[in-house]
Amino acid sequence: MAVQDQALDLGGQIIARHDRFMTLNYPRLPVAMVKGTGCTLTDASGKEYLDLFSGFGAGILGHCHEDLVTAATRQMNRLWHVGNLLHTEPQGLLAEQIARHGFGGRSFFCHSGSDANEAAFKLARLYGQGRRHKVIATHGSFHGRGFAAMMATGQEKVRRGFDPLLEGFAHVAYDDVEAVRGAIDDQTVAVIVEPIQGEAGVHLPADDYLAGLRSVCDEHDLLLIVDEVWTGCGRTGRWFAYQHAGIEPDIMTLGKAVGGGLAVGVMCANDKAANFFDFNHYGGVPHATTLGGNAVSTAVSARLFEVIERDRLVERAASLGQGILDRWQSFAADCPAVAGVRGRGLFVGLELNPSEGWFDSAAAVARRALEAGVLVNAAGQDVLRVAPPLVIEENDLDRGLGMIEQILQERP
Ligand code: PMP
Repeated sequence: MAVQDQALDLGGQIIARHDRFMTLNYPRLPVAMVKGTGCTLTDASGKEYLDLFSGFGAGILGHCHEDLVTAATRQMNRLWHVGNLLHTEPQGLLAEQIARHGFGGRSFFCHSGSDANEAAFKLARLYGQGRRHKVIATHGSFHGRGFAAMMATGQEKVRRGFDPLLEGFAHVAYDDVEAVRGAIDDQTVAVIVEPIQGEAGVHLPADDYLAGLRSVCDEHDLLLIVDEVWTGCGRTGRWFAYQHAGIEPDIMTLGKAVGGGLAVGVMCANDKAANFFDFNHYGGVPHATTLGGNAVSTAVSARLFEVIERDRLVERAASLGQGILDRWQSFAADCPAVAGVRGRGLFVGLELNPSEGWFDSAAAVARRALEAGVLVNAAGQDVLRVAPPLVIEENDLDRGLGMIEQILQERP
């Protein structure tokens, strides 16, 4: 039976179609969103929500940002896709933006953070020239769901049921340079690390961690891959989070925010590494994807960098984020249900103390916040994550934080 034949309102129809025709791999909340403007989402019943999570960080300029809509529309009326045997203007403009705000280097375009990491691992294998192929990653990390990205991810649960697994990935403690050193053998070729562990619950390493990794990688000729899928494009108060550490990686991967909500993944590599992806050097096509760098997505992404720079949103992320940390440090001191707060820029994790509150998990708080009309996210059992669009108005942020505080203080 077609879903519209059932006596359902729009939200009910949307959910019924999902339940009937889509794979049920996500634990979705029973809300269907139909519209987004700025930091406000509207569901099918007309109820509005303040978005403090940006769809896992992807909507870094909020919903339907005027400049991105203009860039998308202009490109859509001009050229969508030609394939990567020809040149298009938006790809080069985007690659230039990434190089300018990052560490130079050359970009390969794909569709997701996982794709970007897959590209990085393939490049690392070429760099190893058949003699070295192993990658060291960290416990608790998240790098995506592709086969290699899943192997790099430092969480057993993402691999459950997918044997036989790919060989060549080792995991060591996060924020422990000596553990990386100890895991190196003569087949090791790269280290992958998140500058801030996002999915693990917004964990910041010591200030000298990345510099330590950089030295170890230099000593052993390993590629340092920095996964900036969560932290890139200004979210942490620098263009890219590795910049807080004063180092440069060999490879940086981007996803989420870089597309502003469209499917863009980027692997940017310095010349030493990128040379191994060179058609002539390799003697053929070392890696490719048909729609990677399609003109509409890359036009939007290139424009996104311009808007972030024009509107000084990196600085804005730094100052608004510091405001959240200050506010929630005092809140944590007053509210027994909150154990502490950590983060950088507009990427904040509130560590909860479920035994002291009405809730049994951060997910329960996120669900209650959704009912109240504010979107946040739970990472793991106890961490509530806040990652609003960088364009959020101060009064909206203030209102959203106040709503969360109120919820955390509720009594059963
Ligand atoms: N790297 C990091 C640090 C991530 O947080 C994620 C997604 N949460 C990924 C990679 C994978 O990105 P995608 O979901 O776009 O494949």
